Amino acid sequence: MRFDIFTLFPGMFVSPFAESIIRRAIDAGLIEIHTHNIRDYATDKHRTTDDYPFGGGSGMVMKPEPIFRAVESVLGTPPPPDVPIILMSPSGRTFNHAIAKSLAQHPRIALICGHYEGVDERVREHLCTDALSIGDYVLTGGELPAMVIVDAVARLVPGVLPPEVTAEESHASGLLEYPHYTRPADFRGWRVPDVLLSGNHAAIARWRREQAEARTRRRQVSEQQQTGLQ
Ligand code: SAM
Repeated sequence: MRFDIFTLFPGMFVSPFAESIIRRAIDAGLIEIHTHNIRDYATDKHRTTDDYPFGGGSGMVMKPEPIFRAVESVLGTPPPPDVPIILMSPSGRTFNHAIAKSLAQHPRIALICGHYEGVDERVREHLCTDALSIGDYVLTGGELPAMVIVDAVARLVPGVLPPEVTAEESHASGLLEYPHYTRPADFRGWRVPDVLLSGNHAAIARWRREQAEARTRRRQVSEQQQTGLQ
């Protein structure tokens, strides 16, 4: 699977993708991550990528021309209709496991990172196929959201992780995952639940299921309480 990331700050992506599972997936040829500097597609002598907002207001807005030029140079003009082109935006659909799973079915996706006050709306309307938010808060740029999306999608690409790992995880089955423990069995007097040391696989499976259900219920209740407080 290929990820094309359009950003003003490609340097931000170097270290997060140079370690651990993502690095191994790149080395194994399972995924490719290409960053493209939007500034390289500005044509004026100052390589301008942002301008003042029409109608006034604070902050600068990213101009449409360098973004269109960057995406069309890399993907083609017009871009192929089967490649999702996704704008990172706090006002987009909230990213979740189901969206990650559906993106992982595509051989190629493109992510556009905004910065400053945001991106000229014509990019969202006429270039992007979708806009995604990673949560109801505002970050300084779309680079961290793009990293989150690449990470969550890449680990679902076949071969990146063993299928049983991703199938059992939180959000995959509608249930949050059960608690994990490792050695030592007794740490500062906090003991691992006896059932996990019993060797009784049926009892362990039952306990894990009960824990996952209880944890899922607890989170639902706490979210409902939070909504009630707002
Ligand atoms: N003025 C914008 C608003 O109120 O919606 C916020 C712009 S934000 C400071 C700059 C850029 O960061 C956005 O264009 C977007 O690409 C990215 N961004 C910030 N928060 C985000 C989030 N929660 N999810 C996805 N992208 C986000």
